[in-house]
Amino acid sequence: MNLTVFGIGYVGLVQAAVLAEVGHDVVCVDIDADKVKRLNQGIIPIYEPGLEGLVRENHAAGRIRFTMDAAAAVKHGRILMSAVGTPPGDDGSADLQYVLAVAEIIGREMDGPKIVVSKSTVPVGTCDRIASRIAEILKERAREDLAFDVVSNPEFLKEGSAVADCMKPDRIIVGTSSQEAEKVIRELYAPFNRNHERMIVMDVRSAEFTKYAANCMLATKISFMNEMSSLAERLDADVEEVRRGIGSDPRIGYDFIYPGLGYGGSCFPKDVRALIKTAEGVSFDARMLKAVEERNNEQKSVLFDKVNRYFKGDLEGKTFALWGLAFKPNTDDMREAPSRVLMEALWQAGAAVQAFDPEAMQECQNIYGQRDDLLLCGTKEAALRGADALLIATEWKVFRAPSFDMMREALKTPVVFDGRNLYDPKIMARYGLEYHSIGRKAAA
Ligand code: NAD
Repeated sequence: MNLTVFGIGYVGLVQAAVLAEVGHDVVCVDIDADKVKRLNQGIIPIYEPGLEGLVRENHAAGRIRFTMDAAAAVKHGRILMSAVGTPPGDDGSADLQYVLAVAEIIGREMDGPKIVVSKSTVPVGTCDRIASRIAEILKERAREDLAFDVVSNPEFLKEGSAVADCMKPDRIIVGTSSQEAEKVIRELYAPFNRNHERMIVMDVRSAEFTKYAANCMLATKISFMNEMSSLAERLDADVEEVRRGIGSDPRIGYDFIYPGLGYGGSCFPKDVRALIKTAEGVSFDARMLKAVEERNNEQKSVLFDKVNRYFKGDLEGKTFALWGLAFKPNTDDMREAPSRVLMEALWQAGAAVQAFDPEAMQECQNIYGQRDDLLLCGTKEAALRGADALLIATEWKVFRAPSFDMMREALKTPVVFDGRNLYDPKIMARYGLEYHSIGRKAAA
C-alpha cells in the first residue's frame, strides 16, 4: 500500500520504518532539510533500540524514502499519515500550527481520494478542524469532487521501546465513522493484527480523547506514587515496601508505580497541561489533573532539596557527579527531563556537574553547549572522580550494579543521592556509602 508520513520524528520515523518493514511503500516528508539529508545518508537522528537497522535495510530495499517535496509526497500516498509535533503553546494548550500546515498542503496538492490519518496527539475536535480546512481549500480549487476522510489514529508507542511497541501494539485505536476508511486502515495494519484483534474502532472525538486520557492516567499514577513517597519519608515507612505491597493487587498492578523524580519527556507534561486547557475551554475545572501537574513540578526538585539540606545550603564551588540525563532509560530525549531541573538548580547554587549518560550526551551538549560548570564524561566511573556526591537521575541498566568499592573510592565524600531508588540501602551501608533515596530512610 502507498503511504505518506508527514513528520519524521520519534513517532513518524518509527511508524514509517515498521510499516515499510511489513511491505508498504512509504514516503516520509519533513520540513527539516538537515534531517532529510542525513536520513538519506543513512544517519538516524534519534536513538531508539532497533531503529537504525530497520531504517537502513528498508531504505536500501527502496521501501522507505525521505523527501522535502511535500507536493509529490501527497500524490504518492493513498493514506496520508500526519505525525508532526504538537508542542505546548504559551498558555499550555496544544499548538496546532504544524498539524494545520499539513492539512493545508494536503488540500492544495491532493489529486485523488485520500485517507488522512492523524497520528499526532491532538485535542478533541482537531480532526474536524483538519477536515474543514481541507474542504475549504478544495472548494477554492473547485475540486470538491475529491473525496477524503480524516481518521484519528493516536500513537501509543513508548520512547525506548518504540520499535517493539509498533511491531506489537497493545491496541490500535481508530476513530472514524466511515466504513471505507476503516476498511483501508484495517488493511494497513493487518500485519500487526494477526494473532488477536488489536483494533478498537470508535468515533473520532473519542479516539482523540483516548490518547489524552491514557497519558493523564499514567501521569496520575506517577504523581500519586510520588506523593506516597514524600509521605512515607515523613512517616518513617519505606515506599519500596509499600510499592510491592500495593502492586501485588491486580487492580493496581506493578507497572508505573515507581517513585522517582517525576515524569518528563515530550508527552506527559504537555498532554496533562493541554487537557487542563481543553477542560477550561468547556468551563470544567480539572482539579485532579492540576494536582498531578503541581505534584510533578515539585517532585523534580526533591533531589536538589535533599542535596542542599545535606550540604547546609552551601553548594558554591562543589562538584556533583550525575548519572543519567535522558528523561528515562533507552532514549536520548531530554525534553522536560528531571535531570535538567536538577542541573540548573545546582548551577544556580554555584555548583558544577560531571555528567554521564549512555545515550544523551550529545543532546545535553546541544541544549547547554560549552560551559565551565558542566563536564560531560566518557564513562560513569570518570564522572565520579573527585565529586562531592553522586546524584542519579535516570534508571539506566548500566547503573544498576556498579562496583560500590570503586564508587566509594572515586568520590571525594562517599554520599549518594539516588532519585530512582536503584540500590538496597543496607548494601550501600555495608559498602560505607551514605545513601539518600526517594521515600526511604537511609539505613542505619
Ligand atoms: P518530533 O518533534 O520528534 O517530530 C516532529 C517532526 O515533524 C519534526 O521532524 C518536524 O520537523 C516535523 N514537521 C513539522 N512540521 C512539518 C510539516 N509541515 N511537514 C512535515 N514535517 C513537519 O515529534 P514526536 O515526538 O514524533 O511527536 C509527534 C506527535 O506524536 C506529537 O503530537 C506527540 O505528542 C505524539 N506522540 C509522541 C510520542 C513520543 O513518545 N514521542 C508518543 C505518542 C505520541
